[in-house]
Amino acid sequence: MSTVEILGSAQDAGVPHLGCRCANCEAARESSDRTRYASAILLEDDGRFLFDATPDVRFQLAEIPDGVFLTHAHLGHLSGLLYLGRESADTDEVPVYATAGLGDVIEENDPLCSLVSNRNVDLRSVADGASVSLETTSITPIRVDHRESLPTGTLSYRIDGPDRSLLYMSDIDTLTTHAESLIRNVDVALVDGTFWNRDEIDRVADVPHPTVRSSMDVLDDADTEVAFTHLNHTNPLLDPGSDARARLESAGFRVAERGDTFEL
Ligand SMILES: [Zn+2]
Ligand SMILES: [Zn+2]
Ligand SMILES: [Zn+2]
Repeated sequence: MSTVEILGSAQDAGVPHLGCRCANCEAARESSDRTRYASAILLEDDGRFLFDATPDVRFQLAEIPDGVFLTHAHLGHLSGLLYLGRESADTDEVPVYATAGLGDVIEENDPLCSLVSNRNVDLRSVADGASVSLETTSITPIRVDHRESLPTGTLSYRIDGPDRSLLYMSDIDTLTTHAESLIRNVDVALVDGTFWNRDEIDRVADVPHPTVRSSMDVLDDADTEVAFTHLNHTNPLLDPGSDARARLESAGFRVAERGDTFEL
C-alpha cells in the first residue's frame, strides 16, 4: 500500500502573498484556516518522498524525506531544497530527482551548489517517461509545457500504486490534449488550478495557466477524481463561501486541501 498526502495547494508564493492586501490575503493573515502552503505532496511507500520543495517545507514536513522529486526551477518548487543544507537540517545524501538540466543548475550555482559539495543531496537525473521504482510504487516523470523560457524543463509525475494511479501536475501553461489525456488516464489527478478566471491579474499573458473554469469544461465527462492545486492568492476558490467554490463542487470537482490523503 502506498499513500499520497497533500502538503499544500497554493501557487509558489503561498497565501497570504507578500505585499498583497487582497481579501484572500487579508483573510489568511487573520485566520490560519485561510493560509495555504505552496503546492506539494508526500508519497509514503517504503519511505517518504516529497514532490516539490517549497518555501513552506519547514511547516510541511517534521521529518527528513527519503527522497525529493523536483518538478522545475521556479520559486515554489525548488527553493525549499535549501532547507536540506547546513543552515537547516544538514541532511546526508538525500536522493534528489530532477531533469539533467535542473541537476546541472543545482550543481553549478550558489546557493544550491553547496548542497552537492556538502553531500546534503545526491542528485539523480530523471528523463521523460523513464519510471523510478520504489517498493510498491512506480513514479514516472512526464515532460509538460510550462514556460518555454525555462531551459531546464518542467515535469509532472504519474504515481502508480498497487491499486490506483495519481497524477501530480502542479504547473502547466495550457491544458493541451497531451495534458488532458494524462489526466483522463489516472484515477486521481491533482491539476494546476492557479486561476479561476483570466481577469484575476492584469499580467496573465506573462504567466499563462489554464483557468479552472475552462478545465472544468474540458474534463466534464472524465472518470478521474480531479482536485485543483497551485491556487493563486487571487483565486476566488480560496474562499470556501464563494460562488466559484459552489460551482466547482456542484460540477464534481474540488480544491486540494492540506491533509487530504489518497491510497493508491
Ligand atoms: Zn508554480
Ligand atoms: Zn492577495
Ligand atoms: Zn512554474
